[in-house]
Amino acid sequence: MLDPFYRKGLRFSCKKCGNCCRISDGFVYISNKDIARITEALDSTEYEFLDNYTEKNNGFVALKSYPNGDCIFFTENIGCKVYDHRPRQCRTFPFWSNALSSQKDWESLSSYCPGINTGILYTKDEIEKILIGTMETKKG
Ligand code: SF4
Ligand code: SF4
Repeated sequence: MLDPFYRKGLRFSCKKCGNCCRISDGFVYISNKDIARITEALDSTEYEFLDNYTEKNNGFVALKSYPNGDCIFFTENIGCKVYDHRPRQCRTFPFWSNALSSQKDWESLSSYCPGINTGILYTKDEIEKILIGTMETKKG
């Protein structure tokens, strides 16, 4: 994108509300790297992890959800049980291509993510590094 709406950067700091872990029609897709990292953290085999925590969705491997839509790793008052090892999809939210396609799409996320437009400034270069997978969101 030559002159994206985020050319002066965007602000985002996670407020740890858990809303993005509780999206009833959302799916957390996971890569082989995610599987290796979480499996090691849980001290389980890949087979056990895939069997207990994942399902196929649209031909891809995704984390299971509870019937209410909560991610299988989400616990009330605790948050993500695998936070330090969470999937890349979670480590890059909200800087996803669909959210960055227009100002309107970015702003619309604020209806459930209170961290949008607050806190840490991400430059255009940093945002684009997250988009191509060479950076994650910053802590704080
Ligand atoms: S919805 Fe936003 S503020 Fe809430 S936990 Fe997710 S990223 Fe953090
Ligand atoms: S893996 Fe963790 S951070 Fe990602 S959606 Fe599930 S509970 Fe949230």
